[in-house]
Amino acid sequence: MKLTDKIESQFRINIIQKKALKRLGLETVRDLLYYFPSRYTEMSKIQKINTIISGETITILGTISKPKISKSFRSKIPMGQATLTDLTGSAHIVWFHQPYLVKIFKEGSIVRVTGKVSETKNYGLTLTNPIVNKSDVLPIDSSDSLFSKENKSNQATQFGYPVYSESRGITSKWIYHTINKILKSDCVNNIIDYLPQEIIDRYKLPSLHTSLVWIHMPQKKEHADIARKRFAFEEIFFIQLTRQKERQIYQELPSYKLKIFQKDINDFISRFPFKPTKAQNNIIKTILADLKLDKPMSRLLEGDVGSGKTFIAATIAYSIIKNRPFDQAKGRQQNFGNLQVAYMAPTEVLAIQLYESFIEYFSPRQNENKLPISIALVTGNGCRKFPSKSASWNKGKQIQTWTPIAKNQLLKWIKNGEIPIVIGTHALISKSVDFENLGLVIIDEQHRFGIKQRMQLIKKRSGKSQKVPHYLSMTATPIPRTLALTIYGDLDLSILDQMPPGRKKVITEIVSENKRNNVYKKVKKELEKGRQLYVICQKIESPDEEDSTKLDIKSVTSEAKRLKKEVFGEYNIEIMHSKIKKEKKAKIMLDFSLHKIDILVSTSIIEVGVNIPNATIIIIEGAERFGLAQLHQLRGRVIRSTFQSYCYLFANAKTDKTLNRLKALSKTSNGFELAELDLSLRGAGLLSGNKQWGITDLGMEAIKNIKMVEAARIEAVKIVKKDRNLDSQPLLAEVVASKNTNLYLE
Ligand code: ADP
Ligand code: MG
Repeated sequence: MKLTDKIESQFRINIIQKKALKRLGLETVRDLLYYFPSRYTEMSKIQKINTIISGETITILGTISKPKISKSFRSKIPMGQATLTDLTGSAHIVWFHQPYLVKIFKEGSIVRVTGKVSETKNYGLTLTNPIVNKSDVLPIDSSDSLFSKENKSNQATQFGYPVYSESRGITSKWIYHTINKILKSDCVNNIIDYLPQEIIDRYKLPSLHTSLVWIHMPQKKEHADIARKRFAFEEIFFIQLTRQKERQIYQELPSYKLKIFQKDINDFISRFPFKPTKAQNNIIKTILADLKLDKPMSRLLEGDVGSGKTFIAATIAYSIIKNRPFDQAKGRQQNFGNLQVAYMAPTEVLAIQLYESFIEYFSPRQNENKLPISIALVTGNGCRKFPSKSASWNKGKQIQTWTPIAKNQLLKWIKNGEIPIVIGTHALISKSVDFENLGLVIIDEQHRFGIKQRMQLIKKRSGKSQKVPHYLSMTATPIPRTLALTIYGDLDLSILDQMPPGRKKVITEIVSENKRNNVYKKVKKELEKGRQLYVICQKIESPDEEDSTKLDIKSVTSEAKRLKKEVFGEYNIEIMHSKIKKEKKAKIMLDFSLHKIDILVSTSIIEVGVNIPNATIIIIEGAERFGLAQLHQLRGRVIRSTFQSYCYLFANAKTDKTLNRLKALSKTSNGFELAELDLSLRGAGLLSGNKQWGITDLGMEAIKNIKMVEAARIEAVKIVKKDRNLDSQPLLAEVVASKNTNLYLE
């Protein structure tokens, strides 16, 4: 067997299993070997059947046999019966009044049973109406050599069974056995470790071979822990190697070294109707310092919705276009320089919003006799230019607006440098858009672009010098610092952690089910005043009726129907989710913004980019199932208004932990604090519902650990400095290349 062999060439699998493996992304033997357990069950809590005693409440694990439906002898109560067997013995199970359970727990099902043991005349040890769960854990059976009779002495030290995520057709047990076979074959014995020995030594990591064995077959908890640590570290390390390389390549390119005219900038800032926050000032300072260097800036600015990122972007844009060369003939600095700014937003709506803000920011004020700065808008659906030719002055008051313009004409002006600021959507990336001297690229909501798209814009070299622009990327997605340092490892990080003063806080309440009607009463009052409401549900369709554990998850479709029928009959209700066609979605959002719709029942897709000031209430169903950062984003939908806004969290909070987590949300309005808290409070597995970052559950364990993230970064920087292409470590180079292909598939 070789690591590169296809699974199906080494193991007998049927068509259903084949499909399941495909769903799980498992193709080769190596893929399986790297399919790590999502957790381990602690064996101590499960008793062997030969140790159970009548009168005790116990948990046993075994295989169901001879399930049957019958009626009790005297009272004729319908009942189900079965035998449960493990390696050490068997016990009898009886379900009175629940004969249907026999259909669920069929012959051969592996189940975990908890209940009180009694001794009956006919059946011996019996559990009556116990709790039974299908188990994803392996029973102690003789086909399993690791836990077989010969090996029984090991059971005391065996800390747990690995549990793998399943897919229909592939069980955790199958994965376990198959991986065991792989681990026992030669291909693993000869495996060569690709991590540099230095790093293994420095951080006392186990070797690759040991780690693989320990992660799948740990004899002690520490073994599992240390193996997981190694794989978590290497995942972050690989990402860093790629990011640091990108960073280095970019930073070696020539860029524009800026002269900063502080007075110009102060003047510009003084035109705003507000004073910048301390955080805004600090970040502007940092960025200006970057721009004075002769290498390109590459910086990520993270700031909550409404924290005032556009102001920063505008100020920096201004300082770029004010990079005035010295005019020899006139013996003084010119009024404007010749550098240009490109500002890209992910949607047309956002691009237009930015365009309008910029026109406001850059229009001359009363008695200001400087030329207005030209600003272009480029989208797939048309172009605009500001100011229009017909602009005129009227008693010191400007009458200036934008005008639609033919794309070809506009592109000429961008190319010859006449237009210094260009705002747009993806259309900005297209080959037809050329700049004379592109000095700065700003990307808004950068997580919504793929890295390729970003790179295309950044790499628009221009002018005779073929210089690259400085790069400022902005995002409102609150993610923990460690995660940002990892996935955006090629960027410097600035966090805008202060809100402009005077914002109304969203009143956030956690509501228990019995107060539901009170909330609806309060909401009705707001709707009567003319406000609008979002209702967020987790699922689109009705839940699977058969799976009783999922019955309490509300779905968009059924909740919308219920609200119409039982609660908000007199209001217009519409639904929104990812399966609705693009055009229909846009129409719904438009109708909602025009208040043709009062209540929008939606999945969490309304999270980003939606801004409807009249919608001031949001109800979130099943709030305990969302991450804090995501809840915060959702709540951000009702933050824009001058009206008081409300966020009601309906939560099935069974534990204090869940409740505390949600309470944090009602106390804190800082998205980044919440993201950190989320990371520390939730299990890594839950956090990584964020598959969008391209980091595995295991990698997320590293993200929790700032030391590990820093170590991975430091080591990667060291290596990239010496040997960027990893020429001296071909094995490592190969692994890094193969692992990082699926990153950033945003
Ligand atoms: P975001 O960070 O979400 O892009 P914006 O830049 O759109 O935030 O700013 C939100 C609002 O706050 C805008 O109306 C802007 O004019 C205003 N604003 C920005 N900075 C300040 C400040 N320092 N004081 C008061 N208002 C501000
Ligand atoms: Mg913004």
